[in-house]
Amino acid sequence: MTGSDKVDVAIIGGGTAGCAAALELRRRGLSVALFERRTVGSQASGVNYGGVRQQGRDPAELPLSRRSRPIWDRLPALVGHDCEFMATGHLKLAYTPEQMAELEAWSAMAAEQGVETRLMGANALAEAYPGLITNAYGGSLCPTDGQANPRLVAPAFARAARRAGAAIHEHEAVTGATRDAAGFRIETERGTRILAQSLINVAGAWADHVARWFGEFAPIQVLAPNMLVSEPVPYRLPVNIGVCGAGLYVRQIPRGNLIFGGGKGWADREAIRARPLVEVSCQASAQLARTLPWAANAAVIRSWTGIEGYFDDDIPVIGLSETTPGLVHAFGFSGHGFQLGPAIGEIVSELVVEGKTTTPIDAFSIRRFARAGHQAA
Ligand SMILES: Cc1cc2nc3c(=O)[nH]c(=O)nc-3n(C[C@H](O)[C@H](O)[C@H](O)COP(=O)(O)OP(=O)(O)OC[C@H]3O[C@@H](n4cnc5c(N)ncnc54)[C@H](O)[C@@H]3O)c2cc1C
Repeated sequence: MTGSDKVDVAIIGGGTAGCAAALELRRRGLSVALFERRTVGSQASGVNYGGVRQQGRDPAELPLSRRSRPIWDRLPALVGHDCEFMATGHLKLAYTPEQMAELEAWSAMAAEQGVETRLMGANALAEAYPGLITNAYGGSLCPTDGQANPRLVAPAFARAARRAGAAIHEHEAVTGATRDAAGFRIETERGTRILAQSLINVAGAWADHVARWFGEFAPIQVLAPNMLVSEPVPYRLPVNIGVCGAGLYVRQIPRGNLIFGGGKGWADREAIRARPLVEVSCQASAQLARTLPWAANAAVIRSWTGIEGYFDDDIPVIGLSETTPGLVHAFGFSGHGFQLGPAIGEIVSELVVEGKTTTPIDAFSIRRFARAGHQAA
């Protein structure tokens, strides 16, 4: 791209959200230029745990999560790859009556929104998962949840978007953007200048920088979930597991590796560096051994982490800018935006094209931080 090209929509960020948006906008016939500082899916979207779950979400986020769920089934038709998505179910384990009561309350709320879960006592767990889980008080199974390979998803959306005619620019950071009567004037580190009618800010843990270019403040905290993977062991775990309170989550892929996490590693988003912490990895391994004693001797072969933007209220910013017509934000997914990514692509596209979306997103407005007294610096 040279000179100052014109496009209908520019997208900052090549995670799942940005790549899904690029594809959806092309399906709607708009011209698209997506800019990614590194390679598509190289940040949180590509290094996450791979949990595709509705279970446990904030009630405000559930409609979004429900909208995303069937898209995962359609990936082969949509992007030409199943991204190893499997609807294995998500089982959340309780170890105390209080934790079980929390699962019951969530389950009742979710049922009203059309998400079915199966509450199970200790005997039902033992019957459904013989010899797999010990000492749990009970659990909640969301059978429609599952898991996928995060390495595959954003690149698959990006390839499909490219095939559909989107310009996907990798290794090209956007260094600034302004808006005037003609549209958004966007500049990149390679000196590219483009004029776009709309701008989508899906820049992940860095999206608050983009918001600030337009006088908007979002108090992102940067955290790095600590992840591990074991050597392959015989395949026994047919379900994705989360543990109440302990922060452990674990799944097993068919080739036998156990992928698990819990606690946080270290991240420096300005340097774009993150690493797991040994003591946190040891704690997660000990928790895994307590939860699944049969897995206690599986040797860890790798640990890693990734850079994710969180908000205190644990829900993202999604919606139209409060200051700038044509600007759409979607970021701060607070550790659970992988499952949402495909629906985010559709929702931000609707916001660009129609100025509204059929999914309720009021709770995610960036306005909530202004109300809480935060100011743009
Ligand atoms: C270790 C880990 C485990 C997780 N586990 C799960 C899970 O199991 N399930 C789940 O649902 N969620 C999980 N999450 C959260 C999930 O991965 C994220 O919420 C989601 O991937 C965010 O997608 P995104 O497209 O918004 O952001 P990202 O994937 O972060 O993409 C944003 C992109 O924007 C680019 N960018 C930023 N600034 C610029 C710029 N100026 N110019 C050009 N490009 C720019 C970045 O390089 C980045 O690639 C996890 C996150 C991590 C880190």
